[in-house]
Amino acid sequence: MIAKVIVDVPAQQTDRLFDYRIPPEWEEVVKPGMRVVVPFGPRTIQGFVIEIAESSSHNKLKKISNILDVIPVLTQELLELGEWLTDQTLSFKISAYHVMLPAALRAKVKKEVVLKRDPASFDMALQAAFGKSDRLNWDVLTKEHASLVRLVQTYIQEGVLDLEYVVVDKGNKKTERVLRLAAEGESEEELLRHLSARAAKQREVISFLYNQKNPIKTNELLRIVETTRATITPLLKKGLLNETEEEVYRDPTEGLDIQETKPLELTEKQAAVIAPILKSLESEVHEPFLLHGVTGSGKTEIYLQAIDRTLKDGKEAIVLVPEIALTPQMVNRFKGRFGSKVAVLHSGLSMGEKYDEWRKIHRDEVKVVVGARSAIFAPFKNLGIIIIDEEHESSYKQEENPRYHARDVAMFRGRYHQCPVILGSATPSLESYARAKKGRYTLLPLTERVNNRAMPEVNVVDMREELRAGNRSMFSAALLEKMQERMDRNEQTVLFLNRRGYSTFVMCRDCGYVATCDHCDISLTYHRSQNQLKCHYCGHEEAMPTVCESCGSEHIRFFGTGTQKVEEEIARVLPSARVIRMDVDTTRKKGSHERLLTSFGKGEADILLGTQMIAKGLDFPNITLVGVLAADSMLHIPDFRASERTFQLMEQVSGRAGRHELSGEVVIQTYTPEHYSIELVKSHNYEAYFEMEMAQRKHAGYPPYFYLTLINVSHPEITKVIGVTEKITSFLKREFSDETVVLGPTASPIARIKDRYRYQCMIKYKNEPKLVNTLREIQQHYLKEMNQGQLNISIDLHPYLFM
Ligand code: ADP
Ligand code: ZN
Ligand code: ZN
Repeated sequence: MIAKVIVDVPAQQTDRLFDYRIPPEWEEVVKPGMRVVVPFGPRTIQGFVIEIAESSSHNKLKKISNILDVIPVLTQELLELGEWLTDQTLSFKISAYHVMLPAALRAKVKKEVVLKRDPASFDMALQAAFGKSDRLNWDVLTKEHASLVRLVQTYIQEGVLDLEYVVVDKGNKKTERVLRLAAEGESEEELLRHLSARAAKQREVISFLYNQKNPIKTNELLRIVETTRATITPLLKKGLLNETEEEVYRDPTEGLDIQETKPLELTEKQAAVIAPILKSLESEVHEPFLLHGVTGSGKTEIYLQAIDRTLKDGKEAIVLVPEIALTPQMVNRFKGRFGSKVAVLHSGLSMGEKYDEWRKIHRDEVKVVVGARSAIFAPFKNLGIIIIDEEHESSYKQEENPRYHARDVAMFRGRYHQCPVILGSATPSLESYARAKKGRYTLLPLTERVNNRAMPEVNVVDMREELRAGNRSMFSAALLEKMQERMDRNEQTVLFLNRRGYSTFVMCRDCGYVATCDHCDISLTYHRSQNQLKCHYCGHEEAMPTVCESCGSEHIRFFGTGTQKVEEEIARVLPSARVIRMDVDTTRKKGSHERLLTSFGKGEADILLGTQMIAKGLDFPNITLVGVLAADSMLHIPDFRASERTFQLMEQVSGRAGRHELSGEVVIQTYTPEHYSIELVKSHNYEAYFEMEMAQRKHAGYPPYFYLTLINVSHPEITKVIGVTEKITSFLKREFSDETVVLGPTASPIARIKDRYRYQCMIKYKNEPKLVNTLREIQQHYLKEMNQGQLNISIDLHPYLFM
């Protein structure tokens, strides 16, 4: 038998199947989707078995040297998905398979076969291999008892044995010392005979361990027996006890107060929206839905009830939530409804914890996974529904190879399992809403908040006016007054400061004018070193103006402040205010995010000041005021989605106010109050916003009317970067049809990272049949240089990041 293997070498030459002979004793063991170790040139490396074949066209085949799994880690579906992903993202197959699996599977691990329960009859040879222990090292098994692997596989399937990974997960892991009795088969009496009659505490320790039968954490034992380490040291020396350092798998929601919840009776509007979803579940046909529901319209309750139906049908559910919204509050809503059937996957977990959650899914111990982007690859076999909340979030796009979008993967899996995929958002992406309008997604509108609670009133404050009135503070008079009011009434305020892209653009403080490129309709970026403004789409350059082109004012300069500065300012203008600041600096430590939010929820502060991370998921009844300090900082980043992101963010932030009994109010400070992405937040009018933005996109030739592809080139030498990018650009221009536009070469908005210069080239097209092949040709052409030298070329087929 032959195994066709993708080897773990991410390179073009190795991006194909290699044939290996399966040793006869493993012919029944090896299955597609398992990891194996194979000889490759002078080395041995890991690989994935993709297919099993009877024969090979090569005749001198090498043998698989070891196997790493007994149950495939990739299902047939995921193997096909990997194939598809490779084509969609122009990445290597090996990268596509790796992205589907927890990192722990790649780390250095010690694997052990563990006896879980006593079997009715245990194979003699296997028993001999285990000896007296209940654990058997995997390498010992595969190297010295290769013929027993098949049997082990059967026992694992029956639950008699299990394969455990002892993750060597440096940096992130939490370990604890664990004690167990060293000798087995000795009675308590025999054990105690080794000790002096006066060593009371030592005897107690031995007796305790003997009767408890299982290993115990050292600290716990010391506490129970009420003694110190001095007691066990001699026991370790005498060889009566063994102490090991073991990783403890923490429950990621440990310590959270999870309230069990029951399904709510749906409102009429909710019932109308869930009906087509339930119908799709029942008929078992794939259907994509776009649930467009304003903040607080009860989308989450719909997700919960749709999942409930799915579980009752014996199927599984995937729920994607943006990383930033994976707050304990959000997780609790799912755990509260489905309890231990829920696995949670997010980046705050250690490698071991992630692996643990993944394994619960892999072994069918859970039915629901709630997680960030990569949870879309959860290895469920009987998937019944996929939900993507806040579907417009750009974090669903992975910004490294393979550059996939979770939404596309969701659709693939939805088709594969013939199940519904629900995209939910208060502010859908233009792409999704356009598809819904065309009928490619079924649109499910939910236009009112539950129980007709009012949407918060939005005040837009013109900061140019403030300046004219002599107010140079970062708080407008209106915002300051409202903050004061909240303090008087013991209500809470959320202050939002967007820091992304700050100080890259230049703005007139008098009239709000921002320089944009005449050719591309995006903001020009300021380059300090040359004191110049540059367009990062087409390369256009102009000198930094000294006076505003629009009004002649000299107040034209960078834009931006940090949260720390805001905190200082609050201390000056509202000295008695208690402030919690949440940004990358205050949330670096694990758990601090939750801690700060809990504290705010308990009313321990009047003001929550933060960046992006407070825009989502916050649901506290006492928040009645939301202030946005500078709506413009998002509006002018050099990205054609800048306006869309601004509108989405403003709506999102507004949604934090007045979610419960108390009504909410929002103050948005801006230098461009007339911009439609800010103006339309006042009326919460998504539809009108969509129409305006679509007209812009059509005019400037951006998605969803056109497709984009971004090629990024980097190298330590600037001449090299420019040279390569120029070559690529002119090659593309030659190859592509006349309707396709190739922009560049131009410096990337961040022109240098870690001493590597960065240039880019952008392709705009409607229909370019030669696209993929031409891009593959470029990859092929620079292959050697990329493998051996410093050159890097990245190709992004549907870019979301233009930095
Ligand atoms: P969204 O996800 O659209 O922002 P949520 O699902 O968070 O909205 O709902 C907003 C609030 O309304 C929550 O506090 C939720 O418990 C409540 N809610 C949702 N559906 C119902 C219902 N059918 N009856 C009563 N309250 C509901
Ligand atoms: Zn331009
Ligand atoms: Zn001006």
